[in-house]
Amino acid sequence: MQDMSGYTRGLSFASMRRFADLVADEPDAIILTIGQPHFPTPAHIAEAAKRAIDEGFTSYTPNRGIRPLREAASAYYERFTGHRYDPDREVLVTVGTTHAIDIATRAILAPGDEVIIPAPAYPGYEGAVRLAGGHPVFVDTRATGFLLTPDALRQAITPRTKLLILASPANPTGAVYREDELHALARMCVERDLYVLSDEIYAELQFDGSPVSISSVPGMRERTVVLHGLSKSHAMTGWRIGFAFAPEPIAAEMAKAAQFSVSCPSSISQMAALEALTTGHGDSQPMREAYRANRDLAVEALQSMGVPVVKPAGAFYVFPELPKALGMTSDAFCEALARKAHVALVSGSCFTRYGEGYVRVSLACPENALQEALERMARFVARRRQG
Ligand code: PLP
Repeated sequence: MQDMSGYTRGLSFASMRRFADLVADEPDAIILTIGQPHFPTPAHIAEAAKRAIDEGFTSYTPNRGIRPLREAASAYYERFTGHRYDPDREVLVTVGTTHAIDIATRAILAPGDEVIIPAPAYPGYEGAVRLAGGHPVFVDTRATGFLLTPDALRQAITPRTKLLILASPANPTGAVYREDELHALARMCVERDLYVLSDEIYAELQFDGSPVSISSVPGMRERTVVLHGLSKSHAMTGWRIGFAFAPEPIAAEMAKAAQFSVSCPSSISQMAALEALTTGHGDSQPMREAYRANRDLAVEALQSMGVPVVKPAGAFYVFPELPKALGMTSDAFCEALARKAHVALVSGSCFTRYGEGYVRVSLACPENALQEALERMARFVARRRQG
C-alpha cells in the first residue's frame, strides 16, 4: 500500500470536531463547531430526489454531470461569475466543492509547484494541494482584516508559484473582497501569470452588496477556475453537489480526473440540484437572514466581553481573537471552555499556524443556542480574567 501520509501528514478534518467530541455526553452541550446549515434541505428539493428514484433515474450520468444541470448552473451562477460558461466545455458538476478543489488542483499543478493561500485558511486547500504534489505557501492576513493585499501577494510569489487560492466569503473568517481589491489582485495575477482557484461556495451567504467574482475582471476568465456548491446555500451538505466553471483546457483535464476518481456525481442528487437551481432561487434568503442576525448577536456579545473580532461580511462563522490577558492558546481555551461551560468551538490552530490565538464560532445554529453559548463564554472569560 502506498503511504499517503507523506502528502497529508498531520492534516485531518477530525481536529475540527475535537471539542465537540469532548462534550458529546453532556446533556446541556452546545456545539458550535460544525460548518453546515442547521436548516433542513428545502422540501421541494427533497421531493425532486424522490421523484428521480420513483422514475428510475438511477443510472450513471456523463462524467461532467447531466446536461440540463450544467446549463442551469451556467445560468444560475452567471449573476456571481459574470459569465455564461459553455455547458458542454466549461462546466462540471462535482461531488461537492471538495471534489472540485481536488480535480482543479490536480489539473493545474505539477509536482513542486507553489500555491499561495491567504491564511487563516480552510484546511481542505492544503490537503488538496499536497495530494496534487504542490507546495502550499500560506500568507498571513491577520493585520489586513483577513484579506490578501497585492503587496503581500507580490512578496509571496516565486518562480515556482502557479496558483492562488482565494475564497470570498471565506471560511473561517467571513472576510469578503471588494471589487477594487479583486481588481488589484487580478492585475498581479495577470502580470505574474498565475492561475486562480476562486472558491465562491459562500457567495449566496454574503450579507451586503453583490458578490463579485475575480473571474469577471478583464483578463481573468481564462486563468480562473470558479467553484460553487449547494452545501451551504441550499442546506445540502450530504447531497454532495458542487460546480466548477473553468476555461479549456483546464476543464477537460478536470473532467478526466473526475472520470477516474468518481465517474459521476449521484444521479439522484443531480436531479435535486436541478430543482434547486431552477425553482430554488429564493431558498437561501431566509437562511442568510438568520445567519446575519446570529452574526450581529455574536459580534455584539464578543465586543462586550472585550474579545476583539473582525465583523464577518458573509458565510456563517465568527473568528474572534483571544485576549492576550487570558494567557491561553487556542487549544487550551477550547478545551477549558468545553470542560467547564460545555460549549464546543473550533480551535484557530486548525486553520494553519496563522489561526493560532483565535477560535471559530459557527453561527449555523438556533439563535437561543447561540445566545446561551455566548453567555456561558462571557462568564468563562470573566472568571479567567479574575485569575
Ligand atoms: N470550501 C469552503 C470554503 C468550505 O468551507 C467548504 C466546507 O466547509 C467546502 C469548500 C466544501 O464544501 P462541499 O464539499 O460540501 O461542497
